[in-house]
Amino acid sequence: MTTPATLSYAIELDRQDTLAHFRERFVIDDPDLIYMDGNSLGRLPRATEQLATELVRQQWGARLIRGWGESWFSAPERIGAKIAQLIGAEPDEVIMTDSTSVALFKLIVAALRAQQGRNRILSDDMNFPSDLYIIQGIIELLDKGHRLEVVPSPDGIHGPAAEIRAHLDEQTALLTLSHAAFKSGYVYAMKEMTEAAHAVGALVLWDLSHAVGAMPIQVREANVDLAVGCTYKYLNGGPGSPAFLYIRRDLQERLNNPITGWMGQRNLFDFSLDYQPAEGIRHFITSSPPIISLSLVEPGVDLLLEAGMEKLRAKSLQQSAYLLELWRQELEPLGFSLKSPLDEKYRGSHISLGHPEALRIDQALIHEFNVIPDFRAPDNIRLGLTPLYTSFRDIYHTVMRLKQIVVEKVYENYSLEAPIIT
Ligand SMILES: *Cc1c(COP(=O)(O)O)cnc(C)c1O
Repeated sequence: MTTPATLSYAIELDRQDTLAHFRERFVIDDPDLIYMDGNSLGRLPRATEQLATELVRQQWGARLIRGWGESWFSAPERIGAKIAQLIGAEPDEVIMTDSTSVALFKLIVAALRAQQGRNRILSDDMNFPSDLYIIQGIIELLDKGHRLEVVPSPDGIHGPAAEIRAHLDEQTALLTLSHAAFKSGYVYAMKEMTEAAHAVGALVLWDLSHAVGAMPIQVREANVDLAVGCTYKYLNGGPGSPAFLYIRRDLQERLNNPITGWMGQRNLFDFSLDYQPAEGIRHFITSSPPIISLSLVEPGVDLLLEAGMEKLRAKSLQQSAYLLELWRQELEPLGFSLKSPLDEKYRGSHISLGHPEALRIDQALIHEFNVIPDFRAPDNIRLGLTPLYTSFRDIYHTVMRLKQIVVEKVYENYSLEAPIIT
């Protein structure tokens, strides 16, 4: 049976959607704007808007320094414990720290130091470039002869899982991958890859940035060593909100934070002049947390916990199946290719469509058709499905507008030059 490419069918799907009411929990100024970029920057939850005022006016303005004892000092652990529920970790295995890249830096240095005598670091070419830059910088900094091996994807869509397994050996110190790839949305089988790395004695670090809040994750069950994740994408934490890091409990005392600062010091208010790491995961904090942006992460996480990751995943899969059906019927004949895995088992919650004119189509969508996707070079139009607020109508209109732009050659009015931010 084919999916009817009609607005009335999309409206019917929205009517049956038991999560549809979560959309009202977000600030939506322009009801006609179709936002398909929640995987780059999530929308603003209404509760976050309220909290922002309260934070600045009451907590900072009125409570002043007392705020530290009242809720700020424990915020990295409190919010970390909530994120732990989203990724299947124990509450004391996750803490909020710095940006994702800095959190990666800390964990990778710590992991390499714990793996003396092994000099290989394995990753793939689907990983987020910043992750690879951080590794390159660390290799230069440590100057211990580490080598980064970037295993290429066979097709730019699927991760090179088999090739990575073949590359793992007794020299491998660390395997680090994005759980969901930022371009294609490919998702690695976390447990199998982690087991394969452990079999040769390597540690594993997963970057969960494009997976957390998009699908259920079970780091404990997969026996993952280390992980980091971004909070401004599917967690709706706000622009530049701090990231979280996960360290399996038995590794927490074994690994040392390379950026030792007073907030990670044991009994910090003794102001001892010699560094002594705080117990548990807390010693991975370096300095005073960015309390305003850190605190604003919490309401977004609460929304995901309230909706439930299993239900959100079910809706995400239903929405991606719907989008793929419409792509097949309406867009494939116009030269749009699928740049994401077809098998939902290996797909996160965004779908990339390729087109030779992707950049200009993307510009037309944004400037004339009130749809915000994003563009990833060379020819990907990336559509983020964020089931807390994406509607089936959004998907229907996005596909129909993509079709119109190509059929009527609207993209020809746009420049071939990419803007600075895509
Ligand atoms: C978004 C994203 C980041 C973000 O890094 P920041 O240092 O927080 O800017 C890192 N890694 C991956 C895989 C991402 O998708």
